[in-house]
Amino acid sequence: MLTADRDRRIHVVLNPCSGIGSALYLKEDIMAGLSGLDVHYSFLSKENGLRATVRSALEAGANEIIAAGGDGTVSGVAQAVAGTDAVMGIIPTGTANMVARELGLPLSIASSTRVIRERARIMRMDAMASGDRCFIYQVAVGMGADVNRHVSRAEKKLLGRSSYLMAMVRALNDLRPLRVRCRIDGRETEMWVNQLIVANAGILGISPLRLGPGIRPDDGKVEVVAMQGKGRLDYIGSGMDMVFGNYLGPGLKYFDARREVVLETEPPTVIKADGEFIGRTPLTLRVRPGAVKVIAPARPMSSILP
Ligand SMILES: [Mg+2]
Repeated sequence: MLTADRDRRIHVVLNPCSGIGSALYLKEDIMAGLSGLDVHYSFLSKENGLRATVRSALEAGANEIIAAGGDGTVSGVAQAVAGTDAVMGIIPTGTANMVARELGLPLSIASSTRVIRERARIMRMDAMASGDRCFIYQVAVGMGADVNRHVSRAEKKLLGRSSYLMAMVRALNDLRPLRVRCRIDGRETEMWVNQLIVANAGILGISPLRLGPGIRPDDGKVEVVAMQGKGRLDYIGSGMDMVFGNYLGPGLKYFDARREVVLETEPPTVIKADGEFIGRTPLTLRVRPGAVKVIAPARPMSSILP
């Protein structure tokens, strides 16, 4: 979908806390990449929250909101533009940049601003709504939800993406299996899991590892991925099945969800959604197919998606 440059009113939301590099240099590089276009900038801060910033940008007439930050910033902007006419762009400057990788977006400032400048394709990403919030890549309970608790900001800065691997090892030590009752598009299932992820993106921290086959951000559905079992050995077993792409292995179970996922766990447990703790179970997620419009390159830069 090509839009004339004169019709584009771009607002870049910069998160100075994510990843590496000074926010001011970052802004200069972005300004260079988007020169000639109508662009406004906001720096996020404690006082300048993401939601309020995007809302006022939209009210002021912006029709493209660019998230310059990590996955938290991208997810927050996605939530703010979901269901509106506004389009999201991504300049990935975080540590993991999961969403950008999943969408096949380039990871440098120069290339990602070029993708935004060219606006060759608009991809419609599905979203998962819970109450008035919505999420775009993964909502997890169990083992996955614990990982970030085991990694500090300092370790993230020092070790980059390897810090998540270290956190996984630590989290394995206090793994607690959950009895889960889920209702997926009206069908009830009960099982023991070490981890359960509702996924709109298959990407994991380490490429080319994927949660499973057929998980796409733009296919109008999400996937419930259950790592079944009751403890460390089972978890490692289903983890190995995932690593070797043995998705039919006994420890893994996949369910398509097109409308709604309702989760109850025994005991109640914390929920991590798009990298952030959002509360405790029970949880209801409503699927919103194609709710978030994202600027994408004509063809994905990498071939992560199957
Ligand atoms: Mg999807």
